[in-house]
Amino acid sequence: MIEKEEQKQDIGKLILIVVCIFSLLFASNLILRTTPTNGQAISTQSESEQSSDEAKAQQKPKAEMVPVTDQDIKVRKFPYPYQSMLAISSDIDSTSLAEFEDYHRFLNTKEKTPYGQGLGLDIADSAWMYIADNYGDKLDHEGHSLVNSMSYFQGVNPKVPKDADKIIHYYKAGWIDSLHTFGDFSRNDKKLLFSRELADLAWKEMRTSGFMPEVWINHGTETNVQNFGAYNPKGFSFYQAGDDPKSPYYHTDLTLGNGIKFVWNSVGMSQFSYDDPLFPIKLRDGKQVWGFYRYAYDMAAGKRIWTWEVHELPRQFNKAHLDELAQNEKYSVVAQHLGKGYEALAFNTNDVQALQLLKKYQDDRKILVARTERLLNYDRVNHYIRFSVLQSEGKFYINLTKIEDPVLGESTPILEDVRGLTFYVNDPGQYTLLINSVPIPDQEIQRNGADKSGKQSIGIKWFEPDYTDYTRMN
Ligand SMILES: [Zn+2]
Repeated sequence: MIEKEEQKQDIGKLILIVVCIFSLLFASNLILRTTPTNGQAISTQSESEQSSDEAKAQQKPKAEMVPVTDQDIKVRKFPYPYQSMLAISSDIDSTSLAEFEDYHRFLNTKEKTPYGQGLGLDIADSAWMYIADNYGDKLDHEGHSLVNSMSYFQGVNPKVPKDADKIIHYYKAGWIDSLHTFGDFSRNDKKLLFSRELADLAWKEMRTSGFMPEVWINHGTETNVQNFGAYNPKGFSFYQAGDDPKSPYYHTDLTLGNGIKFVWNSVGMSQFSYDDPLFPIKLRDGKQVWGFYRYAYDMAAGKRIWTWEVHELPRQFNKAHLDELAQNEKYSVVAQHLGKGYEALAFNTNDVQALQLLKKYQDDRKILVARTERLLNYDRVNHYIRFSVLQSEGKFYINLTKIEDPVLGESTPILEDVRGLTFYVNDPGQYTLLINSVPIPDQEIQRNGADKSGKQSIGIKWFEPDYTDYTRMN
């Protein structure tokens, strides 16, 4: 009896599995194809994407959803309604965990802070894995030394975590998006303490913990041999060894293999805004990665005046710069060292006013402030998104098919890749957006009236603002 009961249960399970498989097949057919008419499922593939055999097979029955060739749909440069985008790209030099938490509460949340009400801006920072600096500089107003800098591991010991849990927490919260190389290897005794083994162990730990930034920012002096991206044997960057396969400090196979897409190569710029801050870098190991420009100094009487120090914020965020950015519809990535001050408060009154001015430009819909990774990825996708326009029963479909990135290679977009993308169309109500023939949920779509160009548009919503005070959620 027991055996028969088990057999019955087994047959029951088998039937259930078969039913489930059929249901799944049926459901996926409905999801992948849209607008069935006359009982026919309609493919949304454009003719140019089909092989000739496939095209013949699709000729009968005739597809209802047909490519539209007489519409020249342009991608808006920035997410509606903004005219420009700006990121603050902050190096984590001389910053303790307490300082980091203090100033990010002001930048990212809307809480009451020692600097006034929080700004609620999307500003992320960088982080280090190791600290080997022996310059003896002060870290903060309490006189701590640089050994106490915010870092994942204690010193150069990959077996002893220091601020690892906090760095993972703030990375997941969006307050950290960049790796300031593997660490601070600045040394006054010229010792080279970085090694490929430290890089390897760092990436192993990062893969396990999920701390996987896509942005790399070079750091410091010539003992930071892990730097890469601007090697020139006759230039200031002669020491850069991270991308040299013959060097014991080679690591770009690991670093690019683990997801670094965007690199600041140590070359600062005096130009504040760019049409496109990305440029391709060919590395010595034959790999390619995106470089990006950071505004870091002004020129005065033939001299460089570095503006990337925290109390130079008013030189960076003033009416002239911000108007230039918005009116010319450009991108700006502004280099900073937000936590480098030694006073009890990170920002003085002038710094706070400069940051408040930046917020006003976002409130006035002139500048979208976004973390570096989001700005660079938006720029990349905006340039290299490929799409087709289709029509069925008087409705139009913009089908996003791929990101044809000439540096990182071709990829299939997901929703997070295409956030903010906006298309100028005559009548947004007549349009739907698809990713590889799958409709993007309507709550993620934004239909916009005319902007100052006089054109209406439809787009995918930008990331929801997040004002959460993550310092309370440790
Ligand atoms: Zn640095």
